[in-house]
Amino acid sequence: MQSKTDSVLRGQILRSMNVLDTSPEEMFDRITRIASAALNAPIAIVSLQDEERYWFKSVRGMDQTETSIEASLCQFSHEEPDIFEIRDTWEDPRLTENPFAHGKPAVRFYAGVPLVAVEGVRIGTLCVLDHEQRALTPAHKQILRDLAAMAAHELELRRLACTDALTGAWNRRMLEVVATSEFHRAERVKCPFSLAVLDIDHFKRVNDRFGHEAGNDALFGFAETFREVMRTEDWLFRIGGEEFAALLIGADGKAATEAMDRFRRAIAGPDFAVSEGRFRMTASGAVIEAANAEGIAAADLPQLLERADKGLYQAKRQGRNRIVQVA
Ligand code: GH3
Ligand code: MG
Ligand code: MG
Repeated sequence: MQSKTDSVLRGQILRSMNVLDTSPEEMFDRITRIASAALNAPIAIVSLQDEERYWFKSVRGMDQTETSIEASLCQFSHEEPDIFEIRDTWEDPRLTENPFAHGKPAVRFYAGVPLVAVEGVRIGTLCVLDHEQRALTPAHKQILRDLAAMAAHELELRRLACTDALTGAWNRRMLEVVATSEFHRAERVKCPFSLAVLDIDHFKRVNDRFGHEAGNDALFGFAETFREVMRTEDWLFRIGGEEFAALLIGADGKAATEAMDRFRRAIAGPDFAVSEGRFRMTASGAVIEAANAEGIAAADLPQLLERADKGLYQAKRQGRNRIVQVA
């Protein structure tokens, strides 16, 4: 399996949690409220690390709702596996120009504990800040760790709600969420992306011949092959029984068709082995450019899906085990 860089993986994880730029929620506000009261700290923040900023899911004691990474205090805790404390920001040579230390919030003290996703990737921080220099007691530190674990757990639950349990692919609901954010991103960074729909060929026969369990293994294998063969940024969604959709980021229609064809060959190449025997699994698919090189959308998601479905039907009719590109 290809290795995924932390920042790409972090971006994917955060998007799958469907949390960035959402409204305040009681669940996270409770956490900052308890942190602030229990540690007697005027400011507490659940902060999530996006591409170029820390975005605050919950903030208590301050009006600001995000900060650039350069201006943040969280950036220094980045390498720390556990609690990171800055007991006096005014004494810290890295912070002589820091706007939190020397600007309006006049933060003298910082303590942050990482929020870690199940992959082991750090996605944000629960931190407390004070206007006085100080140090946390061991009991305070434990409270902060426990609250951070609760925040991370809550974020994981949101992710589970978006995942298909059998294959590990994203579910249909997520396709809409991710497509919306990818349309915005394409426009912002002026970069293309494409949509593919895929359907396993004669899958009923696999079930009939080898049983439903073997069919389930094959579905997992299909998604696993996608994860192995395709790029880290690409997304796979299970949108029906043996039907999938994919979003291929940074790929125009032609590049995406080539990539999906590579995936098709990876699926069809080796025999698929299950405990009941071996079979060859093939899939058909259609690719459509969703946004062009300027990031301009070709159509909305329902229209794209409809056009891609027509292409898929065509691929089936032409003999299956093929990818067609549609406009
Ligand atoms: P085609 O090449 O035309 O797509 O043929 P097909 O047999 O794949 O198409 P059809 O849509 O008729 O059948 C899909 C089959 O997929 C029906 C069902 O047995 C199987 N299937 C759907 N969901 C699951 C699942 O979760 N597990 C298993 N094992 N099989 C499933
Ligand atoms: Mg089908
Ligand atoms: Mg099928």
